[in-house]
Amino acid sequence: MLRKFAWLGLPLLSLALFAVNNDMDRLIQEALKPSPLENNLRRLTDEVGGRVPGTPAMQRAVDWGVAAFKDAGADSVHTEEFTIQHGWAEGATSVTAATYGEATSFPVRAVSIAWAPALAPTKHVPVMDVGEGTAAEFAKAGDVSGKLLLVHTRVLANWADLFWEYEQAPGVIALAVKGKAKAIAFMATRDNDILYRHTNAVFGEIDLLPMVIVAREDGERLARLLAAGNPVWADLAIPNKISGPIKSWNVVAELRGSEKPDEFVVLGAHLDSWELGTGALDNGCNSALVIDALRAIKASGLKPRRTIRFILFSGEEEGLIGSRMYAVDHRVELDKAVGVVIYDSGTGKTTGFSTGGRKDTIAATQTLIAPLEQFGATKLTPSAESGTDHFDFMLEGVPTFVADQDESNYLVNYHAVSDTYDKVDFPQLKKHVAEAAVFSLALANAAERVGPRLSRAQIEETMHETHLDQELKAMGMWDDWASGKRGRAK
Ligand SMILES: [Zn+2]
Repeated sequence: MLRKFAWLGLPLLSLALFAVNNDMDRLIQEALKPSPLENNLRRLTDEVGGRVPGTPAMQRAVDWGVAAFKDAGADSVHTEEFTIQHGWAEGATSVTAATYGEATSFPVRAVSIAWAPALAPTKHVPVMDVGEGTAAEFAKAGDVSGKLLLVHTRVLANWADLFWEYEQAPGVIALAVKGKAKAIAFMATRDNDILYRHTNAVFGEIDLLPMVIVAREDGERLARLLAAGNPVWADLAIPNKISGPIKSWNVVAELRGSEKPDEFVVLGAHLDSWELGTGALDNGCNSALVIDALRAIKASGLKPRRTIRFILFSGEEEGLIGSRMYAVDHRVELDKAVGVVIYDSGTGKTTGFSTGGRKDTIAATQTLIAPLEQFGATKLTPSAESGTDHFDFMLEGVPTFVADQDESNYLVNYHAVSDTYDKVDFPQLKKHVAEAAVFSLALANAAERVGPRLSRAQIEETMHETHLDQELKAMGMWDDWASGKRGRAK
């Protein structure tokens, strides 16, 4: 019996796989065709510009998303509102350094850290070098009260450096607050005078003391002056504008499932950005990708069996707030979420996907993404990350997939004045549209789901295995999970 079934089954299975592969080839061809991708992104970056929640630009970006999804052929488009506890905008930040009495003075190129408090104009603040700001370096530096603390950083060359930067700040801030420092000046992690927006807030809260990023070249000059024994002072003004609660919106488009419309896949990217540049690599390009993936699936004529939700999240930069609130607002239907796919690393080549720390989803997913072999994008890695919009779905036990991408030109332009349309690698981005469309449709059409929703205990186990728990503790993000404020209850 077994032999006979195997003999009959094999050709049938091959035929079915052949049909699926034909479909996916058709979808890939559709995705790679000329499309509105470039023009959509040009309008978002050049015409709308940087998109901070609470600003008119963010509102225009939401309108852009709604219109572009409709043009792409969505079955439905709507927005979902959420609140961020404070609005924030930078004023005319000014730092002027003086040394040799007042004989030498020079402007220090500086921008405020986002969601940091304002500082009224203050003259003659002593500058003190606290190295990289470890407890030992603070102890060696001495009394920091009333000082502007110059903090050394490492040049951003790879993903590990970026985590280092995020993990460095909370410890420095805690020691500075404890010692009653006036403000902190972090040296920029980019060379060549590049300034960028950085935040240490994790949920839209206002930080505990004023902070700026100073151009690396200026920071090094201050450090050399101090090391040579010259007292240095700074005149500071950081007139940030801070408001009470603001509204922002996620944009949600759907292609409805033909057989199981209540089960759903999410393909997402964040629409908001910082505003020194125009948020092209982070993350306008992938917002445009999400829209173009919808267009390609629709145009291919292929019908998803389950619903695909294409979501442009907002408030990502202030602490993953839009996706966090989406997970909260949709908690009752998360048992029906079969997978969440997120893109958030510019246009460096996609090598595969990280699975939110899960090993159990890998074998089934490997089969689904086999058509991506031609792009070299099939490597599945059971790592868990905290830095983008899959995070709250992962904490709810939903299978998540974050595109793993080469650094390419992402890091040098990260959150920076230089993150503009001209940095986007469109031939590569179009391949990612094809990959995202194939993966989303494959998840929607798979006979079996790639994995179950995990329980709270299982989720915590994956965090221990991947050491994500330590990363979250370092970044001040662990307590909300531990207290049950964030993530799956049971
Ligand atoms: Zn991003």
